[in-house]
Amino acid sequence: MRSRPPSVNALALSLSESGLPHPLCVDVARAAIAAGDPASAPQRARELQRSLLTPVVNATGVILHTNLGRAPLAYSGDARPMTVEFDLATGERGSRQRAVGQLFARLCGAESAMVVNNNAGAVLLVAAALAAGREVVVSRGESVEIGGSFRVPDVISQSGARLVDVGLKIHPSNYRVSGFVEETTVGELASLEVPVVADIGSGLIDASTPWLAGPPPSWLAGEPAAVQCLADGADLVTFSGDKLLGGPQAGIIAGRADLVERCARHPLARALRCGVMVLSELQRVALAYLHREVVDQVPWWAMATASVEELTERAERIVAAAGVGRVVATEAIPGAGSAPGVTIPSVGIVVDGDRLAELRAGDPAVIARTRDGATTLDLRSVNPDDDAVVVDALSRLER
Ligand SMILES: *Cc1c(COP(=O)(O)O)cnc(C)c1O
Repeated sequence: MRSRPPSVNALALSLSESGLPHPLCVDVARAAIAAGDPASAPQRARELQRSLLTPVVNATGVILHTNLGRAPLAYSGDARPMTVEFDLATGERGSRQRAVGQLFARLCGAESAMVVNNNAGAVLLVAAALAAGREVVVSRGESVEIGGSFRVPDVISQSGARLVDVGLKIHPSNYRVSGFVEETTVGELASLEVPVVADIGSGLIDASTPWLAGPPPSWLAGEPAAVQCLADGADLVTFSGDKLLGGPQAGIIAGRADLVERCARHPLARALRCGVMVLSELQRVALAYLHREVVDQVPWWAMATASVEELTERAERIVAAAGVGRVVATEAIPGAGSAPGVTIPSVGIVVDGDRLAELRAGDPAVIARTRDGATTLDLRSVNPDDDAVVVDALSRLER
């Protein structure tokens, strides 16, 4: 004889320690009972909990990991309302683009700048505002895939502009977008009587990296930068907020004031606008660049520029504390399609076997990678504040 199943409510109440809100515990309890397996409820609750957005330790060595939200954020929201569209001088309605726009214009050496939801949105908006019903000439074999099989030309097509794919041959037309600017010369394009827009993608602001103490890191060589593209004659540049910039997901449009203004007035600008969390974080990041405090305030730059000596010391301390693992030289990458092909010398900890699932099961989960039957935790993408988490995760591995 089977015993009577527990009531949904009793089972749901027994799940309260999962931390899930009661209505979700009720859903889990119902599903477990419906499946004829009430005992599976705690496991189902754990699975639901783990399907929510969860902070993790990124030990993959891919610093801007697209599946982990690209640039790690240091967002701390202020509960107070923000002057998103409020002019403190007049007490009247202000422009949502003013604060962040002026900072990015300053950073890029541009007349004007504005921000939208992401760079794909920036490209869409620019094409719609400047070229709807006209032709956009993409100057390379620009089938630039931006992940998940989305292609930039398809995004541009959605603007109502006609895409003319001319490969490397340049046809005079009324509009131009160049994808990877280092392979196209913006200077040449700029001599034509049409707006030249460079989608530089990754959002390196200035190739001379004045916000860093030393010279530009060698792995940045060849990466297109906003300041230089505009100086070479691009009328607009567009780039992501969460790649080499190190900020939140956003798309920045910078360049000629009249063109930025046309973008800002287009109806799509309303559909693509950013909210207060993104705007305030972008402002914090932009100010960190202007203060030259990116290494302290923008986690991506701290990770990208940490010395191999620092990383080695951390790795040795972690291995000593955990009593497991070997310190090895590794190669990290910027990630998110930024600076493709380049690697950044790094340091990792290797343990035998494929331990990915074990490391993921921890709280917080540690995300590593495997190679040749061993598991590597690369420290370049790990915030030093999380070294203790790594020690803990390693100590718990089954021996
Ligand atoms: C990443 C990238 C995009 C897409 O940017 P999102 O911010 O992800 O929308 C577009 N163009 C280029 C060249 C890119 O590298």
